[in-house]
Amino acid sequence: MKIPRVCEHCSKPFEAKTVTTRFCSLSCANKAGKERKKLEKEQKEKETLLNKYSDKIAEVQTREFISVAEAKVMFGISKDTLHRLIKRGMVTSVNLGVRLTRVKRLDLEALFTSVEIPSKKEEKAKPNFEVGNCYTITEISEKFNADPSTIYHIIKRNKIPTKKVGSFVYVPKVEIDKIFANT
Ligand SMILES: [Zn+2]
Repeated sequence: MKIPRVCEHCSKPFEAKTVTTRFCSLSCANKAGKERKKLEKEQKEKETLLNKYSDKIAEVQTREFISVAEAKVMFGISKDTLHRLIKRGMVTSVNLGVRLTRVKRLDLEALFTSVEIPSKKEEKAKPNFEVGNCYTITEISEKFNADPSTIYHIIKRNKIPTKKVGSFVYVPKVEIDKIFANT
């Protein structure tokens, strides 16, 4: 089988042997793989840095002068870039001592878009399917005097997690109590 394709790394047209072939040669595949890994690594490092500093950034955002390290995180620029900008007079800086350069935050804000701080992911609580914490459909039906078909409808509509064990369907009590408390 020969399929005309364009190499995703060097953009050279080639004949692929399978529909999933993406590169013209092993060398291109390897190079593309390395590039991807490098990008992934950079992305990860950036995220780690942001997560590490996310609390601090809020505080930094209120200060007139910030450190080089803080500028690096807030605006995603390198130390070298920053020093170049200072040299050119594009960013106001004060020197408080060795390695204690402070730069004017507003100058940087005018030049760069500050990076978005990832909001801490709200971890969704795992549904508790322990027996004492669950109702069966019959129990819900009896307790809240509701028809099983209505209950299934409510479960579906509210995307309530359920667990099926044999012929029983278990539903977390908290979820059901919450819904029937509002009716
Ligand atoms: Zn290639």
